[in-house]
Amino acid sequence: MMTSNRPLRPATQLVHGGTTRSSFGETSEAIYLTQGFVYASSEAAEARFKGEDPGFIYSRYANPTNDMFEKRMCLMEGAEDARATASGMAAISAALLCQLRAGDHVVAARALFGSCRWVVEKLLPQYGIESTLVDGRNLTNFETAIRPNTKVFFLESPTNPTLEVVDIAGVAKLANQIGAKLVVDNVFATPLLQKPLELGAHIVAYSATKHIDGQGRCLGGVILSDKDWIDEHLHDFFRHTGPSLSPFNAWTLLKGLETLPLRVRQQSENAARIADFLADHPAVSRVIYPGRADHPQADICARQMKGGSTLVAFELKGGKTAAFAMQNALEVVRISNNLGDSKSLITHPATTTHKNLSDEARDELGISPGMVRFSAGIEDVEDLVEDFERALSGL
Ligand SMILES: *Cc1c(COP(=O)(O)O)cnc(C)c1O
Repeated sequence: MMTSNRPLRPATQLVHGGTTRSSFGETSEAIYLTQGFVYASSEAAEARFKGEDPGFIYSRYANPTNDMFEKRMCLMEGAEDARATASGMAAISAALLCQLRAGDHVVAARALFGSCRWVVEKLLPQYGIESTLVDGRNLTNFETAIRPNTKVFFLESPTNPTLEVVDIAGVAKLANQIGAKLVVDNVFATPLLQKPLELGAHIVAYSATKHIDGQGRCLGGVILSDKDWIDEHLHDFFRHTGPSLSPFNAWTLLKGLETLPLRVRQQSENAARIADFLADHPAVSRVIYPGRADHPQADICARQMKGGSTLVAFELKGGKTAAFAMQNALEVVRISNNLGDSKSLITHPATTTHKNLSDEARDELGISPGMVRFSAGIEDVEDLVEDFERALSGL
């Protein structure tokens, strides 16, 4: 347990927050690789199952290492409670399914991570849950999509891959007016650059696979909200459907949280520098970066984000041919659909992450053949600039 009662700053919380130590007094958080727990007596087991003794019962429900990760995330996010999941998609699908039932309606921003869009468009209707996808850049689109049975709003901001932003406080206000809940997928912003709960969102979900691990080691996710919502909607759903995180991966993610501010700061600085470099390059027709004054929604970015994020989207004048040639010529930046890693990564969304969308849907989202998405790593930025300079000079 923390020995200090002072309100500690985020970087300190991410190193120490939520830590519990065994009788050995280990420095690092312990990895409790166990499914179950033993009880001192039949009476002790009875008390635990009655909820009179707060100890652990089974690692599908809760586990000491996972508990440390959940507590640390709560401190970071300003949330009352959390559940750690095996992947980001386990977090998103549980956050939606646990609170929706047949006859309900969901309004979601159409610019979503591919699997999130599949859940909203394909999976929810299988259970009698209707959904409407809207252009999230305009708040009135959320309002006009509201139906009498609208129960949940769902969005990500900035979006993948075109880094559009959605007015989170505005959507939260609409949700409150009709007693609906707003779920925000906050992966692209990270908990350091954007705090959806402070902006009025009710539930925040992460793929911890991205910046929270950020070093290519494991999948993970987390759902955060107030205690009442978790108790009423998520608690039983989570226990009985089993999306639980492995304690080993919870430990990996705890280690990731320790360095999250250092990495996100360096990645954001690198992203900003690369965005400026690309904006001045003759082979590039457009750069989208939430930290630049020419972002189409720079005012919303300034209002709800503390930084420009670690990602840059840009478009090459030479279309797909130029995008492929540039990617192939890069020597430091690697081609990968992952993001938020300490290694700089680049992807061509039209032929990878967003290839399953119709041409029309891709056009709507601005995913042109020449569009690439760059995820800045923590390398020396001069090496990244030189890498892009060399790769683009060959076009
Ligand atoms: C990666 C990602 C997810 C899914 O996370 P997994 O850990 O891969 O399951 C969801 N939303 C966004 C925005 C993502 O980038």
